[in-house]
Amino acid sequence: MTMRPDEIVAILRRQIEELDSDLQVEAEGTVLTVGDGIARVFGLQEAMAGELLEFPGNTYGMVLNLEHDNLGAVILGPYEHIKEGDSVKRTGRIVEVPVGEELIGRVVNPLGQPLDGKGPINAKRFRPIESQAPGVVDRQAVSQPLQTGLKAIDSMIPIGRGQRELIIGDRQTGKTAIAIDTILNQRDQDVICIYVAIGQKASTVAGVIATLEKHDAMRYTIVVSATASEPAPLLYIAPYAGAAMAEEFMYAGKDVLIVYDDLSKHATAYREMSLLLRRPPGREAFPGDVFYIHSRLLERAAKLNDELGGGSMTALPIIETQAGDISAYIPTNVISITDGQIFLESDLFYAGVRPAISVGRSVSRVGGAAQVRAMRQVAGMLRLDLSQYRELAAFAQFGADLDRATQARLARGERMVEILKQDQYKPMPVPEQVVSIYTAINGHLDDISVDNILRFEKEFLSFMRRERAHVLSALDEKKEITDEIRADLENAIKTFKKSFVS
Ligand code: ATP
Ligand code: MG
Repeated sequence: MTMRPDEIVAILRRQIEELDSDLQVEAEGTVLTVGDGIARVFGLQEAMAGELLEFPGNTYGMVLNLEHDNLGAVILGPYEHIKEGDSVKRTGRIVEVPVGEELIGRVVNPLGQPLDGKGPINAKRFRPIESQAPGVVDRQAVSQPLQTGLKAIDSMIPIGRGQRELIIGDRQTGKTAIAIDTILNQRDQDVICIYVAIGQKASTVAGVIATLEKHDAMRYTIVVSATASEPAPLLYIAPYAGAAMAEEFMYAGKDVLIVYDDLSKHATAYREMSLLLRRPPGREAFPGDVFYIHSRLLERAAKLNDELGGGSMTALPIIETQAGDISAYIPTNVISITDGQIFLESDLFYAGVRPAISVGRSVSRVGGAAQVRAMRQVAGMLRLDLSQYRELAAFAQFGADLDRATQARLARGERMVEILKQDQYKPMPVPEQVVSIYTAINGHLDDISVDNILRFEKEFLSFMRRERAHVLSALDEKKEITDEIRADLENAIKTFKKSFVS
């Protein structure tokens, strides 16, 4: 028997048509099992990974596991009322959050719902919480500084707009303090700030919000909060929600600073969810893709190229270590994803060196390109003096007889350490930082006792503001220490020293 080609085509066409009619998109499924905030749902074969599902009682869930005959979803919010057999609807949308100016000044949960009792947020735009990070050609190199206002960071670990700089250290070493001071310092820098609190105590978050309000920083800040008492899935989506809000501004050509406080708790929440979803546990019981949850988040920080508006998203993720162990699983992951780290040490913190930054173990791999020249002029010397000091101090502990030169170098180092101390909530403008460090590296503090250094700094800076304001504004304008500024500074130091009583 022979068949003509058009007959074959007709048969094939009929079969394809029949196949199509078999495929009916199920928009409603049923809950198979539910417990611990996880639901297995039957009958939603077409659902997408990350899709928002609607459960009874205005509760939403997110699809995470797509399996052969059912799917695993996490429930975003209270889940006690959901029972086996309940119906579940697809929404056809990936989980999204409201974005835009309307959120500035507000405290919201990871779904963008207000937590501050200041009424509804009438956002006009929404963005999916997961989105593709900008590619290589969409970016440009970091070129503009993101000033933290902290002497030790702006001088030696400079951060550029679009950079990802990790803040890492044990508990209670001042990690959050650095992030908050950086936010306070953006007051007139035209940077929108987003603080994402993940898995912290509600009282701690309330404290942060009160601080931001007190310093008038909520004017340009959004707080996204998922406290320790919330279900793990909410903690898990919090940083992505924050990133989506940041992207809205970045793609509009603005500069954004986002703090993830902290990603250790984020990883723990993800582990909890994954174990409940019965994904296979790996190292430290984390699922195998725990690296990816942080890499895809932090890749979204960028400095966009000029065609895309030149906006930026600077990310400051925070990681808590156990007993200073930066070689544990999550710390090494996040270190390898970021462009550098600010390492905080308990020993320094308790010795009164605050911020407790370990200069030797902290780096910024890209921010140097964005540093203002005046700062670069003083920072090189500072780094050198401090590293020599650290080396010598280790020997000096043994009480050996020290020659003059060594003693002088130790004395200089002690003063450097002292001048880098800085109180909380007192971010400093760049010209003042430069002036402080300038006095130290040029030996003008050598004859002042260590106990008096911080008082000297405070009084000298207020002298500068009062009587030599033109030097500070020249520094601000020229952004470098010209010969003229140098002469003015030397003169100012000499004059001030005559009146300083130690
Ligand atoms: P946790 O692990 O609990 O999140 P943390 O590492 O974020 O802690 P912070 O809460 O920022 O640490 O700071 C711990 C304590 O140290 C706070 O009481 C804070 O006020 C104080 N502190 C932080 N930085 C400084 C500073 N530069 N000068 C003085 N006190 C500081
Ligand atoms: Mg903290």
